[in-house]
Amino acid sequence: MMLMKFRFLGGADIVGRMGMTMEGDGKNILVEYGMSPSKPPEYPISPPRVDHLFLTHCHLDHCGMVPAVCGRDGCELFTTPLTAEISEIMMYDSLKIAKAEGYPEPYTDTDVDKTMRCVAPLTFGDEIELGNIEVAVHSAGHVPGAAMFEFSCDNSTLYTGDLHTADQGLVLGAKPVKCTNLFIEGTYGGRNHPDRKSTVDSFIAKIEEVIDRGGTVIIPCFAVGRTQEIMILLKDLGYEMWVDGMGRSVTRLFLDYPEYLRDPKALKSARRAFMEVRNSGMRRRASKGKIIVTTGGMLDGGPVLGYIRDHRNDPKSAILLVGYQAEDTNGRMLLEDRHMVIDDETVKIECEVQKYDFSAHAGHDEIIDFIEGCDPDNVIIMHSEARELFLPDLQNYNVILPETDKTFELDV
Ligand SMILES: [Zn+2]
Ligand SMILES: [Zn+2]
Repeated sequence: MMLMKFRFLGGADIVGRMGMTMEGDGKNILVEYGMSPSKPPEYPISPPRVDHLFLTHCHLDHCGMVPAVCGRDGCELFTTPLTAEISEIMMYDSLKIAKAEGYPEPYTDTDVDKTMRCVAPLTFGDEIELGNIEVAVHSAGHVPGAAMFEFSCDNSTLYTGDLHTADQGLVLGAKPVKCTNLFIEGTYGGRNHPDRKSTVDSFIAKIEEVIDRGGTVIIPCFAVGRTQEIMILLKDLGYEMWVDGMGRSVTRLFLDYPEYLRDPKALKSARRAFMEVRNSGMRRRASKGKIIVTTGGMLDGGPVLGYIRDHRNDPKSAILLVGYQAEDTNGRMLLEDRHMVIDDETVKIECEVQKYDFSAHAGHDEIIDFIEGCDPDNVIIMHSEARELFLPDLQNYNVILPETDKTFELDV
């Protein structure tokens, strides 16, 4: 028997600030260490000394606080090389935002440098040994480079991180892995996604309608994944299309690692179909163009605010939301009552606003199918505000709904 102690430092019952320790076999393993980029930002509790850190992917709720640990303990950081490179951009960006908004910085530039020197790159199909524990790496199907980790000793334990099982334009869906203990994300508890094809069709029909009536289409997107997913969807439309914000450099990084993409050629031709905004002159031209794909995804910052400022009084133009809008964000306010805060001023938005579901997370039924495919004894649901909604469908399993800072043991 190899009993290990598990403890969530954050992210058990919320979508945000992930962190979980696994203690046993003479070592302390930390799986993910993120932050919630709220105002003010929120962090998981601090772990004891860490020997090895496993990072699933580069979204801030999973990677945002890794430098606080690698900077302190100099521990090995196991992740895919693509996740490491994008995480570095995200970490510096979140430091920049903390400085700009006057929040205390949770780590320094030096900690980020040190973190990058801690990276021990792993890729899908790799297996490593850490004492008595073997670790295998699988694709999580969420964004390029996103990994699931399988820890094996007497039994096996799979940790999914963020997961999608349906194929997307950028990555193919994740496949179940037989295991005894399954740690799985449950963002979409109780909710399923609408049919992807009809979402794509109505999204493109709306874009054509807006352009036909003389408007500009603004598509706010997260830099990692959604920007590129949308670019691939639109690449053959033949309109004047612009891309702005951090998504541009992420696209370049994706293309540096074609092995993590479903179809590198599709992303390459998408990149050619869009003009990149590189300076303020180009930004003015882009704002008069037909389609603008730009960060930030929840409208709380980034170039998107300038484009909305230009078009907010124009009922012919439209803002098409394609990502999750968290509470207390401009995006949520826009959806709920057509207002936004731009330049510290609350303004009314007169242009059309629509929302489309292009989620990179598995829906409720997809999660249940994945669990059945993994055939575990124990199912541990995390990264979810609706965990109870899975219980009726999981009566054949021992389900654990972990609580922050509460320890439980599993035979790994
Ligand atoms: Zn994610
Ligand atoms: Zn997440």
